[in-house]
Amino acid sequence: MKKKVVILREIPKIAEEILSSKFRVDINKSGEVLTREKLYRRVRGASAIISLLTDRIDEEVLHAAGEQLQIVANYAVGYDNINLAACKKAGVIATNTPGQLTESVAEHAMALLLTASRRIIEADKFMREGKYKRWEPLIFYGEPIIGRTVGIIGAGRIGAAFARMCHNGFRMKVLYYDVQPNYQLEREIGAAKKSINYILKNADVVSLHVPLLPSTKHLIGKEELWTMKKGAILINTSRGKVIKEKYLVGALKEKRIFAAGIDVFEHEPKLEPGLISLPNVVLTPHIASATLFARNQMAQMAARNVLMVLMGSKPVNPIESKY
Ligand code: NAD
Repeated sequence: MKKKVVILREIPKIAEEILSSKFRVDINKSGEVLTREKLYRRVRGASAIISLLTDRIDEEVLHAAGEQLQIVANYAVGYDNINLAACKKAGVIATNTPGQLTESVAEHAMALLLTASRRIIEADKFMREGKYKRWEPLIFYGEPIIGRTVGIIGAGRIGAAFARMCHNGFRMKVLYYDVQPNYQLEREIGAAKKSINYILKNADVVSLHVPLLPSTKHLIGKEELWTMKKGAILINTSRGKVIKEKYLVGALKEKRIFAAGIDVFEHEPKLEPGLISLPNVVLTPHIASATLFARNQMAQMAARNVLMVLMGSKPVNPIESKY
């Protein structure tokens, strides 16, 4: 009997193509996130689970799968949806898909930045509402970003890729805050490691790229937002819970900062009340990695991780939490 691999939502077909000749692949094609009960039933008897960030993988799920479960392969670089301690206890390997989506996420952060800084959403709405009557000398002033200062919070793969885009494309000065130094980034583009407080006080753009951890939850709250420069722009493509969103709404409403570009939300998919009525925020539905290239690479990597483990080898990307 072939081993069973469960894929908890449809992902690019390459994953199934890699796995289906050797294993029985069961894909949830309902288009819905499985409810807990359905999830328990679905994973029963699985040797591998390919999970998404919308699936909470905890002790109950591992238990429901059964003792034959060998691997949970997350189809994401972030793994805050997986209880790593429970996996360790159950002897289940957890993997993720780092690196494959780095440039796509950094590009999206840049797209959010330019859209927010040049008020593209407001201007687009203005056009669609037929308000454009003649060239106007005083409308839609934005904030320039050329030559200004960007503060990267979390200068890992994505943070560093975004920093390079800012520096090489827009001659921006790069400051960063991280629990570990990124000497390569310092050598390459002269990035300077500073305290988070220094960055908030001095950066014209602050972009968040930390994983969601107990140490990064609500890293940006009222005090931090109130410390930022008045004309500053905040970009978040990391995880929603890194920002205490109700204070972000307040800061944007009171124009304490110029604008924000947000791809991830504190209570995803729910939005903080007041957020959508603000003109100075750009919102996208957690799509920073959504390019065909990145998603195909991620699917391939998740499938390879499964293949390796079920064939008795080490996975390509075991999650080895350093924090
Ligand atoms: P990474 O591990 O390469 O980088 C994370 C950096 O954060 C590391 O340099 C680490 O030292 C630093 N860090 C950890 N704890 C910190 C703390 N308390 N204070 C300051 N810095 C800290 O990860 P990555 O590949 O760059 O991904 C970063 C995050 O981006 C992921 O964890 C994920 O949550 C998020 N992400 C979001 C999307 C999306 O679709 N929006 C897609 C991919 C990744």
